[in-house]
Amino acid sequence: MPGWTRRPATHTGSGSGPDEPGAALGLEASDLAWGPPGRPHLIAGVSFSLAPGERLAIVGPNGAGKSTLLRCLYRLHRPVAGVVRVDGADVWSLSPRLAARKIAAVLQETPGDFAFTVQEMVNAGRTPHAAGFSGRAASTRAVEAAMRRMEVSHLAGRAFATLSGGEKQRVLIARALAQQPGVLVLDEPTNHLDIRHRLEAVELLRGLRMTIVTTLHDLDMAADVAGKVLVLRAGRQMAFGPVSETLRPALIRSSFDVEAEIAPRGLSLRFDYRLPERRADSETESGE
Ligand code: ADP
Ligand code: MG
Repeated sequence: MPGWTRRPATHTGSGSGPDEPGAALGLEASDLAWGPPGRPHLIAGVSFSLAPGERLAIVGPNGAGKSTLLRCLYRLHRPVAGVVRVDGADVWSLSPRLAARKIAAVLQETPGDFAFTVQEMVNAGRTPHAAGFSGRAASTRAVEAAMRRMEVSHLAGRAFATLSGGEKQRVLIARALAQQPGVLVLDEPTNHLDIRHRLEAVELLRGLRMTIVTTLHDLDMAADVAGKVLVLRAGRQMAFGPVSETLRPALIRSSFDVEAEIAPRGLSLRFDYRLPERRADSETESGE
């Protein structure tokens, strides 16, 4: 599968003025908390701010609340405290349709996706946009460009359910690109991808002009993809900031319970891990 990322960064051929579809938008969370009704908060105290076009990786151990935080960002969970602002506006002050024109989500596949063909899946990305004659032409162009970009045009007539994990992932990303959002939110987008497609996904994310928030469980990947990182542990924000200043050994130890060595590699970082030595005699910190 040669290089579906090696196309120009103009992902849909649209313009780039601030009101154009697909122009990057700022995203901000301020003291955000969410939990199911009557239950303790699953995430709390989450605050970050991204300028248009910045890329954020959300990292943390399994169950830390990464997917829950994303659900607050793409307006699925209404925060019980705090606020999410896109382009300066509280996402809950926007209609679902307007919110969907600003923020698209690429999630791990959902059961409802399986009844559709690939073409129908990608067309669905246009649902939040205006209909009408000129709207239809723009939609056709956006869908075709997104499918070409993700190299899924040849799969158009296939049932989504029959695709491989990697093909499904590319279709889901194509649907989000067809949506022409200003913010793209992705949940573990490299999960089902083989080595080659994982590298291509990194390149794709780096080449998109929109603002990106992605969960990742791999710190190497986070350093490759993102300029900023937000670290969650047990629903609490351990850190937010530029990747190289933030992902330091002490933070990795307190967030992931591993010792890390960090080496520069090109413009990115490589992480080596080992289990911490357990001290049988005391529970005090090592004091390093
Ligand atoms: P991560 O994506 O970091 O692995 P999640 O956000 O999926 O973590 O989940 C964080 C914790 O919250 C997990 O223990 C999960 O079982 C729990 N959880 C997630 N969503 C809900 C929900 N709607 N109701 C109750 N518990 C939930
Ligand atoms: Mg998750």
